[in-house]
Amino acid sequence: VLRPPSALSGAAYWLHDTPEQADFRVQARQWLAVTLAEVCGDVSSPDYDLRLEEYPVRRRWQAALADAGWAGLAWPVEYGGRAFPMALQAVFHEESSRARAPRPLNSIGLYMAGPTIIAFGTEMQKADHLGPILRGDEIWCQGFSEPGAGSDLRGLRVRAQPDGDGYTINGTKIWTSYADVSSYCILLARTSVTAGEASPLSMLLLPMDAPGVTCRPIRQATGKARFCEVVLENVRLPRSALLGAEGQGWQVAMTTIAHERATMGFALQADCAALLDRLTDLAREAGVTGGEIGARLATMRATTSAMRALGRIGLRAYSETGTPGPEGSMMKLTWEQLQHDICVCALELLGTPGGRRVDERRHEYWTATYLRSRGNTIEAGTTEMHLNAISQRILGMPRPPRVMER
Ligand SMILES: Cc1cc2nc3c(=O)[nH]c(=O)nc-3n(C[C@H](O)[C@H](O)[C@H](O)COP(=O)(O)OP(=O)(O)OC[C@H]3O[C@@H](n4cnc5c(N)ncnc54)[C@H](O)[C@@H]3O)c2cc1C
Repeated sequence: VLRPPSALSGAAYWLHDTPEQADFRVQARQWLAVTLAEVCGDVSSPDYDLRLEEYPVRRRWQAALADAGWAGLAWPVEYGGRAFPMALQAVFHEESSRARAPRPLNSIGLYMAGPTIIAFGTEMQKADHLGPILRGDEIWCQGFSEPGAGSDLRGLRVRAQPDGDGYTINGTKIWTSYADVSSYCILLARTSVTAGEASPLSMLLLPMDAPGVTCRPIRQATGKARFCEVVLENVRLPRSALLGAEGQGWQVAMTTIAHERATMGFALQADCAALLDRLTDLAREAGVTGGEIGARLATMRATTSAMRALGRIGLRAYSETGTPGPEGSMMKLTWEQLQHDICVCALELLGTPGGRRVDERRHEYWTATYLRSRGNTIEAGTTEMHLNAISQRILGMPRPPRVMER
């Protein structure tokens, strides 16, 4: 672990581990070294990376994290967390990626729905859901996007019509990741008697087994169906399903998105650095380490280091202000390009004579990772929306009128 010279302070100091972070890193590394093999099997086996994508493996991994107190590190103690600073959560993400741990199956619950319930939920909602979210006993999905509303949520049409002591919900959500394996959805809907763009938004906790909810998995280029169309037909929910007040949905949704950007942003850069390690191993095995490939690998390594620095600066800003800064948009843009470049380089290497010796499972892994990486430019805010954010929040360009950008 690099320790900064004592003269360094402020942002520079933040780039290096504090003694507390260094100790925590060692503890995390030791726990991961033992538990990963127990839960996920031999890291050196050829099908290890593909196995990490399987839902049962990811579910078991989340339960192991929760049992040992590594899930919800930044959550308050009263809700099963350890109230650690976000910087320690980031250290754990880095160590998990480096050790090649799977992503917990309930990532949306852990990093988005759970923190939003902590911020806006009633005591009953917190008691009912936070424990099961931590352990992955409840999987959660995020029902924001609709066929006519993605980047600009003004187009939302799903209606939760107030009706006696509850709501009757109709409409369609789309691209809802993990909807088919979820028990609950944080559902953004318009709550008004009349339809229309101006009617207020509210957030509801929707049980996915409620009568009238139909999930239709959508097949992706990878051949897998990791997101769904969710059709809602006369779904009845009680008033107690509201998260926050009626009409407060925009504020609740922005809290969800802020948590997504703050936590997942850092996890993604750590994943990217680990993917680059795999590419570097592949280049070594194929015997292609110098020349043009060597230069590309070195450039990519420099980019991952810059991303890490940016991520840690962003985390500091988040810890101080409670809102993610524009660094998150720079990270997202860099991550999507780098992930793509790493995959392209891997596929090129697999096409070389040395690369052809690499086993079939790794061909399959890199092909699937490349195909999945195409969606990175769309999910969690499209490339153009993040360019808009940089132009407005860093360059000070004017914001276009009348948009509700996610
Ligand atoms: C892998 C994956 C997983 C997803 N998971 C979920 C999920 O779990 N839950 C969920 O709710 N959604 C999810 N989504 C949906 C995602 O949030 C939306 O696809 C995204 O917000 C873009 O919305 P859209 O598809 O409607 O495209 P649009 O918003 O219609 O955009 C179309 C094009 O226009 C551009 N554009 C739009 N507005 C502007 C503007 N103001 N300035 C410049 N260019 C603009 C966009 O950049 C894009 O190129 C997922 C998407 C993917 C790919």
